[in-house]
Amino acid sequence: MTTRGGSRPNIVLINCDDLGYGDLGCYGSTKNATPVLDALAASGMRFTTFYMASPVCSPSRAALLTGCYPPRIGFGSFDGLPVLFPGQGLGLPDTEETIATVLSRVGYRTQMVGKWHCGDQPDFLPTRHGFDHYFGLPYSNDMGRQVNPPSILDWLPPLPLLSDEVVVEQQPNQASLTERYVEECLRFLRADDERPFFLYLAHLYVHLPIYVTVEALAASRNGPYGAAVGAIDWATGVLLDALDELGLRENTIVIFTSDNGSLGDAAPPWGSTTSVGGSNLPLRGAKGSTWEGGLRVPAIVSWPGTVPRGVVNDDLHRSLDLFPTLATLAGATCTDEFAIDGVDVSACWTNGAPTPVSTFAYYRQNSLEAVRDAQFKLHVAKGNERFDALYDLSVDPGETVDIALDHPAAVASLAAVADEVRRRLGDERLDIVGSECRPIGRVLNPKPLTAYDPDHPYVVAEYDLPDKG
Ligand code: MG
Repeated sequence: MTTRGGSRPNIVLINCDDLGYGDLGCYGSTKNATPVLDALAASGMRFTTFYMASPVCSPSRAALLTGCYPPRIGFGSFDGLPVLFPGQGLGLPDTEETIATVLSRVGYRTQMVGKWHCGDQPDFLPTRHGFDHYFGLPYSNDMGRQVNPPSILDWLPPLPLLSDEVVVEQQPNQASLTERYVEECLRFLRADDERPFFLYLAHLYVHLPIYVTVEALAASRNGPYGAAVGAIDWATGVLLDALDELGLRENTIVIFTSDNGSLGDAAPPWGSTTSVGGSNLPLRGAKGSTWEGGLRVPAIVSWPGTVPRGVVNDDLHRSLDLFPTLATLAGATCTDEFAIDGVDVSACWTNGAPTPVSTFAYYRQNSLEAVRDAQFKLHVAKGNERFDALYDLSVDPGETVDIALDHPAAVASLAAVADEVRRRLGDERLDIVGSECRPIGRVLNPKPLTAYDPDHPYVVAEYDLPDKG
């Protein structure tokens, strides 16, 4: 067995798009077949109480990579929009460190494949944030040319597929994109290079519109959604198989998660009237909301021989903690120039230590909507409206019974937590400016990476599904 990477572990981080808490077999799904992911969970640690820092894409992804709540790095909203759109002059500035920046600095080779969504202008791309190479879509797969777009989105340019910083294809066939992503990952894993590596695979699935292969659809019990989940499962299996073949499985940390909750099982907000097919059960709410279903997501860490097998971890854990944790395990340190919100939880992974995380703040854009501790969750707002409710998540993860009147001490304790969070990270609803917030990156004269040209030989001129979301 080789120990390529030496004493430092390789890292494979797999992030899905809009995969819900209840979408995997190991999280209770009876609709989607996920044998590989169920086995991955059994091989390591499965988290039942793991949060992304936002219920939507751009803020969630920037938080995952930087270990910062989105408002800390200017990623709460984007000139008023909830996520970044094509050609916006905003993005993650190079003054912010990412997991890739830090790992690259200590000798890791790094690659990102898939959805970026932290800024599409050259200054903001993955190659400017510690990744040696990049292949993928710089933003969501519903931000290309589609039939019958909502009128507010009918201006979107052709969907660009990037290699490093170059548009290599416009309007790619989305049904084949996951296979192409996997090929790119395999090339990276198999490279003849002794350095340890960091691979970040960010799937386009299961964000709408969902295009899948004929084979995946035939194998699905849950329509295109189940087929997309099946493709994620298949892709994981191919990568794990390659690590086994290379003798690297025991020296590689594999992390699997999702950027935010599913839209759920209703019809999409724009587009077709058929059910999306997703599930956040047993949680309440969906993508975009600060109910549990918006931010609590599946999370698995597998590192055979180091992370114990078959552990179900119910403690409070957050995507924010991946950055300092992976840096620690790689023998790197985050520079102290800027404060981050994440903390090192490596002892929880390797030694079963209790979580050092005592609270979590639920932001929607730049407004604080809820806070939780180990047991209780206090809602303080929904949208621009005040909304008061207390739930005991230890017995009521579905947030069904407001118990605020019965637990004034818990309400007071969490209200104090909310005030402290607001002081540091702000609360737009209350006109509170956070003392620790840093500005988002801006460039002058931004422009979309593509422009529609009726004479261009697009593979797919207009995606024929109208679904967005
Ligand atoms: Mg998403």
